[in-house]
Amino acid sequence: SSNMAKSKFEYVRNFETDDTCLRNCYIVVRLDGRNFHKFTEQHKFSKPNDNRALGLMTRSAHSVMEELEDIVIAYGQSDEFSFVFKRTSNWFKRRASKLMTHVASQFSSSYVFYWKEFFGEQQPLLYPPSFDGRVVLYPSNRNLRDYLSWRQADCHINNLYNTVFWTLVQKGGLTTAQAEDRLKGTLASDKNEILFSEFDINYNTESALHRKGTTLIWEKRDETVTKRMKRPNEEEKDVAVTRSRRRVQAKHCDIIGEPFWEEHPDILED
Ligand code: ATP
Ligand code: ATP
Ligand code: MG
Ligand code: MG
Ligand code: MG
Ligand code: MG
Ligand code: MG
Repeated sequence: SSNMAKSKFEYVRNFETDDTCLRNCYIVVRLDGRNFHKFTEQHKFSKPNDNRALGLMTRSAHSVMEELEDIVIAYGQSDEFSFVFKRTSNWFKRRASKLMTHVASQFSSSYVFYWKEFFGEQQPLLYPPSFDGRVVLYPSNRNLRDYLSWRQADCHINNLYNTVFWTLVQKGGLTTAQAEDRLKGTLASDKNEILFSEFDINYNTESALHRKGTTLIWEKRDETVTKRMKRPNEEEKDVAVTRSRRRVQAKHCDIIGEPFWEEHPDILED
C-alpha cells in the first residue's frame, strides 16, 4: 500500500524475478486439471466423455476469454485448456506469472461458480478442484499452429483409445483389464476396425466435440437491440440500434489443416 511505498523495507521488491515474456511471441497458457483421474471418478463422470464436464470446461474458458485481455484463440480437450495471447499483447507488461495466474484463477473460480448449471443438484461438487498452469512462448505462426495441432492430435489419439476401450467394456462385456490387454500394441487402424466390425461403429461419425475438442474464437456479429429514446421536443419511442459485437464462438472442427486458418485469417498476425 502507498504508506509502505517508501519504507526501508521497500528494497525487497528488487528480489522479484523478471519474468517478462519475449516480445513478438505468442504467449500460450495451458491449464490442466489436477488429479482429474480421481476427480472424474468421485464425481461419477460418464466414460469415456462426460458432456456436462466438457460443457463446464468450455463455459469456464469462455469466461477467461471475456474477462481477460488479448486472448485470440483457446483450445480445450479432456481436463485441459490452452489460451493464446496475441503476439503484440502488453497486458500486465507481458509478465508470465501475472498472465498465468489470472488465467488459472479465473478458470478455476468459474469452474466452481458454474458447476450447478452443468451438473444440477444431483451431483454436488465434493471438494474445490484446481488447475496447474504453464506458459510457453511461440515465435512463429508455424510454431503456434504446430502447438495447437499437437494438442488436437493428442485429443484424437486419446479419444480413439478411450472410445474403443469403453466400448469393449460397456458393450463387449470385457473387464477393464481385459480391454487394456486387447488394445495393447494396436494401431489406430486396428482400433477403427474393432469399432467397425465388432460394434458397427464408424469412428468418423462419432461426436465432433469428442473427436476434435473445443476451439473458442472471437466472431463479429451484428446485434440489434431496441432502446427507449427521448430526443428534445419529441415523444419517447423505441428505436432499433444495430451494432457489431464480438462474441466468443465454440467450434468442434479440425484446426490442423489449412481450411480453418483460411476461414479465420485474423487470428494469426504477421
Ligand atoms: P489490482 O487488480 O491491481 O490488484 P485492486 O483494486 O485489487 O487492483 P489493490 O491494491 O490490490 O488494488 O487493493 C485492494 C483493494 O481492496 C483496496 O482498495 C482495499 O482497501 C480493498 N480491500 C481488500 N480487502 C478488503 C477488506 N477486507 N475490507 C475492505 N476493503 C478491502
Ligand atoms: P495430473 O494432475 O497429472 O494432470 P490427471 O489425473 O488429471 O493428473 P490427466 O492426464 O490430466 O491426469 O488426465 C485427465 C483425466 O480426466 C483422464 O483420466 C480423463 O479421462 C479424465 N477426464 C477429463 N475430462 C473428462 C470428461 N469430460 N469425461 C470423462 N473423463 C474425463
Ligand atoms: Mg492488493
Ligand atoms: Mg488487488
Ligand atoms: Mg497432466
Ligand atoms: Mg490433469
Ligand atoms: Mg490432462
